[in-house]
Amino acid sequence: MSRAICWFKNDLRVDDNPALTAAAQAGTLIAVYCADGRFAGDSEYGMPKLGPHRRAFIAQALVALRERLGALGVQLVLACGEPDAVIPRLAQDNQMDSVWTASETAPEEIEQTRRVRRALSRLDVTLHETRPNTLHDRADLPFDLVDMPRVFTRFRRRIERSINPAHPIDAPRDRVGLEAADLSCIEAFEPAGWAAAETRFVGGENVARAHLWRYLWQTRAVMHYKDTRNRLMGDGVSSKLSPWLATGCLSVRRVADELARFESEVAANESTYWLSLELRWREFFHWVLARHGARLFARSGLLDRHDRPVAADPAVIEAWKTGHTGMPFVDANMRELAATGYMSNRGRQNVASYFARDLGQDWRWGAAWFEAQLIDYDVASNWGNWANIAGVGTDKRDQGFNVLAQALQYDHDAEYVSQWLPELEVLRRAQRHTPWLAEADTLKAIGYPQLATIPPCWGELAGATSA
Ligand code: FAD
Repeated sequence: MSRAICWFKNDLRVDDNPALTAAAQAGTLIAVYCADGRFAGDSEYGMPKLGPHRRAFIAQALVALRERLGALGVQLVLACGEPDAVIPRLAQDNQMDSVWTASETAPEEIEQTRRVRRALSRLDVTLHETRPNTLHDRADLPFDLVDMPRVFTRFRRRIERSINPAHPIDAPRDRVGLEAADLSCIEAFEPAGWAAAETRFVGGENVARAHLWRYLWQTRAVMHYKDTRNRLMGDGVSSKLSPWLATGCLSVRRVADELARFESEVAANESTYWLSLELRWREFFHWVLARHGARLFARSGLLDRHDRPVAADPAVIEAWKTGHTGMPFVDANMRELAATGYMSNRGRQNVASYFARDLGQDWRWGAAWFEAQLIDYDVASNWGNWANIAGVGTDKRDQGFNVLAQALQYDHDAEYVSQWLPELEVLRRAQRHTPWLAEADTLKAIGYPQLATIPPCWGELAGATSA
């Protein structure tokens, strides 16, 4: 009878979890999750790796996973410490002979896996890697990874022409497990006790599946996705699947499968297609990272551009992080992020563009702040999108935004900025996107900062709002 460990990371579910399915073939199974240095440490940009919202969302997901595994008779060990110390210890003390885990794409995680593999090999325990949370297996891609198209449209066309998303696998049904694992050398942690920040969404597999069901089948909100996805406010305007996809509470293959079922049983329209297209953006960045590795995190990026800003001015960055730049559209989005750990896609594009282009800061500091804050933080999607907007990513075209034009287009009645910047209430609605045109005394009285510089391309637009 073989004895296996399933090492959970960003795959906090039992459904369509190949590492769990493989490990469950063993007669005896222990599941483990490690709260490693990232939980307390800072990134090289001096920002936390995991801010309070992300931690709280992961904690909720772990509590839910413990329950789901418990129903299968599997104990989830929640251990403090680095995986290369915890997992070999657990394997040794419980005479396990294999470890199963999802494969990684990002350099830090690949290095962590390598360390675990090395430590296990000294004990004669094998580490097996299974596919990550992607629509396609690497072997099924219609190109070698080295020849992967750089531009999304070409990637999408090649994929759409030749392969469909692979089917998800169901959760193990039979009870497997170990009566009592020897945990004497493990320092355990209790996620429910982690500082609970308020999260806009609740982590966990059951909540994720219920959300997917509601979005597709109950409300059928997907039917108007294409028309509403750029809105800044409102629950059904976009799918809001990202927090559960990023933590692996939800399998992307399950989403694609349910979407295809919806299209065949209810209706297929431009909107349902558009949602599958957005899932392909997620897939694209995954394979971009797999292809290019550490270059995605360099200031000069994949395009090797050395003309990008190098500035990292602490005062400028702090004003941007806390939503006090003097540009209301940016400030409102940044305050939403700080308060909830979420921001719309339209918001992300604009605050990133403002940071890297109008404020002229090194884009990686902005990406690192998103990494700390976003409850849907996904290494490939975050750094890939940031690199694109900074002009160093996969696309040679200029990806900068006229942030004032965007504000007037997507928040034309200033409803969004009014929600997050209550101090602007004293201004007429028409002025709330351009408070720098108000009297200096007014701004001082309401405690809203004066904009440092007005980008030249805003000139005429700003005039129109003061009329
Ligand atoms: P929907 O519009 O409903 O899209 C459905 C799903 O498709 C999303 O859940 C997501 O998995 C995927 N998707 C949609 N747009 C993108 C995109 N541009 N790139 C990659 N995947 C996409 N997304 C993350 O999941 N994690 C991140 O860390 C992240 N960081 C970002 C940083 C910047 C600067 C920008 C511009 C975008 C970032 N995105 C990130 C992409 C996008 O903003 C979010 O996926 C989206 O806003 C999540 O909301 P939703 O689930 O309602 O999306």
